[in-house]
Amino acid sequence: MQKPQGDLYQTSAGDVYVLPLGHGSVQISWNGKTIQVDPYSSIADYALLPKADLVLITHDHYDHLDQKAWKETQKEGTTFVASPSAAKDLPSGATALENGQSFTWQDVQIDAVPAYNIKHKQPNGKLWHPKGWGNGYVLHFGDFRLYLAGDTENIPQMADIAGVDVAFLPKNLPYTMTDEMFVDAAKRLQPKVLYPYHYESVDKIKLQSAVGPNILIK
Ligand code: ZN
Ligand code: ZN
Repeated sequence: MQKPQGDLYQTSAGDVYVLPLGHGSVQISWNGKTIQVDPYSSIADYALLPKADLVLITHDHYDHLDQKAWKETQKEGTTFVASPSAAKDLPSGATALENGQSFTWQDVQIDAVPAYNIKHKQPNGKLWHPKGWGNGYVLHFGDFRLYLAGDTENIPQMADIAGVDVAFLPKNLPYTMTDEMFVDAAKRLQPKVLYPYHYESVDKIKLQSAVGPNILIK
């Protein structure tokens, strides 16, 4: 088997490797299994990556729910977990999770958590991501918690997730967060390690000095 790629985190459930692929896509390797989060064919060639045992989809936008990518990473027996509306476009048997629901896959607890805009709207006045439509996910590998925020702003529910080991938070306007919102979200969450993702450009040195020394920006 190919050696797992990414940053290694040692957990009570074994080694977890986390590999940001770009934009909202993350590959996680654990226990010989591969998890692909929001696979997106514009940023990676999924034909060349390990096939997914689990695919997690946060919401319907084309950069998160990409049929070409999920078909390429799919194999026999792949489990799909998605927001309810995204699950409708996935193979039958996909597990739909509403905000607040959980699902256990291979001893990994998956919590679907809210992901939405408070402020940033489309030109037609509707929010890019209305509350209840999409999911963020908290994955529990033993006592290690990994938070994938999805497309969201600095929402109050982040206080309920505070103290996660690793967090992915989105940047990129107009859909998600400004630098100020990002820093506020980081302070609410207090992760040990924080990956900005879903960005066009990011000044990690500036973000690091804004969030303080207790959070490591990767
Ligand atoms: Zn989106
Ligand atoms: Zn997006």
